[in-house]
Amino acid sequence: MPAQIQKTVAHGGCPHDCPDTCSMIYEVEDGKLVGVKGNSDHPMTRGGLCVKLNDYEKRHYHPDRLLYPLRRTGPKGSKQFERISWDEALDEISTKWKAIIEENGPHAIMPNSYLGNQGLVHGLNGGDAFFNRMGATVTERTFCGEGSCTAWLLTVGPTAGVDPESFIHSKYIVIWACNSISTNLHHWHTVKEAQDNGAKVIVIDSYASKTAKAADWHIAPKPGTDGALAMAMIHTLIEENLVDQDYVDNYTVGYADLADRAKDRTPEWAEQITGIPADDIRRFAREYASTPPAAIRIGVALERSYGGGQAIRAVSCLPALIGAWRHVGGGAQQFSVWEHPYKFDVISRPDLIPEGTPVVNNLQLGRVLTGETKLDTPH
Ligand code: SF4
Repeated sequence: MPAQIQKTVAHGGCPHDCPDTCSMIYEVEDGKLVGVKGNSDHPMTRGGLCVKLNDYEKRHYHPDRLLYPLRRTGPKGSKQFERISWDEALDEISTKWKAIIEENGPHAIMPNSYLGNQGLVHGLNGGDAFFNRMGATVTERTFCGEGSCTAWLLTVGPTAGVDPESFIHSKYIVIWACNSISTNLHHWHTVKEAQDNGAKVIVIDSYASKTAKAADWHIAPKPGTDGALAMAMIHTLIEENLVDQDYVDNYTVGYADLADRAKDRTPEWAEQITGIPADDIRRFAREYASTPPAAIRIGVALERSYGGGQAIRAVSCLPALIGAWRHVGGGAQQFSVWEHPYKFDVISRPDLIPEGTPVVNNLQLGRVLTGETKLDTPH
């Protein structure tokens, strides 16, 4: 009689660095992963995984996966490696690092890294405490989420804003620099439901993404000019008396400075920069202010350009100006993690950084290595 196959099912979360954090079902036969699927009982996942994950079992067993330490044996780029043991790898690294520290000091070592698929705990800051204790050069990683999060926290504060499911109550939804259908699929379900219930969906994106094609209005600024569009929106809201003054007076700070800053940022000024007709910018501001509840989904593309953090600050001011936060389904959403307080200090241990440690922004690493830019030493 043939042996019976042992089938089991396990529940887990998607291991990718992705805000959807899908609930996954892992199907296992005789100890081998044979398939994955989205958990249909989960209200956000709704039984679907995105294209990055729906054949995860194939990647899990892919022969090209790196599973062991390898030592390069030929010139760089020649793809010549030999497998070594973990003990050999650790010995080799620690011997080399100790020699570097002895000769040049711990500042000569810098952890140049960013985010992978490891999630919040390991992804960005997993090694920080180790390197801080060592006295290595500190790496600033400001070009992506850190720039966006700093901008949001400075402007709105430590809140996730509108929770993704509350977009169902929105009547005017602005998806600003996010291709939701491809990369934030599970939020799109809610947006689509709201759209079917009569909400107007505006997508701001430099190209006609799938999401832009499904929108009621696609606004396409030139790449990296979103900040100018947002400033012209602010200008128009103020100029056309569309500001919720009661909300601004009671719940915000800095309005006079913002109004002063926006004074010259007319739609005509923005048209020159963004390529969007001034009349469209005015129409957008009027509709946004007069169709409550209005919600903005801030996508990650917004921060990935020069001045991206300031663009996010400008966009983040819009809901306060029209009092959108008063309404369920009104406001903005940047990063849902702020609803789950996360103690970066406990993981990164900045208190271990010795005084005088240099800091390098990894965008500037090339310039630092060529001597074009001097090292900062704020610690
Ligand atoms: S959308 Fe894709 S990458 Fe994101 S959590 Fe779900 S399965 Fe993972």
